[in-house]
Amino acid sequence: MRNPDLKISGKRFNLMKLPCVYAWLRGDEWMYVGVSTRGISRPLAYGHHAMSDFLDEDVLLIWRFRKEKSALDFEQELIKEKQPAKNVAGIEGDLAKARKSNYNRHQCERCGADFYTRTKWQRYCSPICRFKDWNENHPRKSEQVVISVND
Ligand SMILES: [Zn+2]
Repeated sequence: MRNPDLKISGKRFNLMKLPCVYAWLRGDEWMYVGVSTRGISRPLAYGHHAMSDFLDEDVLLIWRFRKEKSALDFEQELIKEKQPAKNVAGIEGDLAKARKSNYNRHQCERCGADFYTRTKWQRYCSPICRFKDWNENHPRKSEQVVISVND
């Protein structure tokens, strides 16, 4: 029998089913904040468009709540504070108007993710994509990239 790749305890599994708020981070950039009443099935759902384009380097933060209402309140608080690049609902003021009108909606030139620009000249969704693109176009002669794939 092939060994399993992941072992999840019953306690952890049950915790994953609680209402939660989740945040997608790319480097220091807040990409998206969402809420789920059915645990992490929401951020994992294939049809969840806002969460597509998730890169290996990205991070998902999860806050769990016993009550749905607490999760909903915390989501709104977090969106207001962080103004994540892909959120539209919950954003206020000029940024909200801009996002709703879609005029500053762009595709990242590196990973293809849809995002909302904060400046006219922004070409990448995040510092990581900007750096990767720059790095690729300015290769160092001594640098050799070895990629090993085990699976
Ligand atoms: Zn990108």
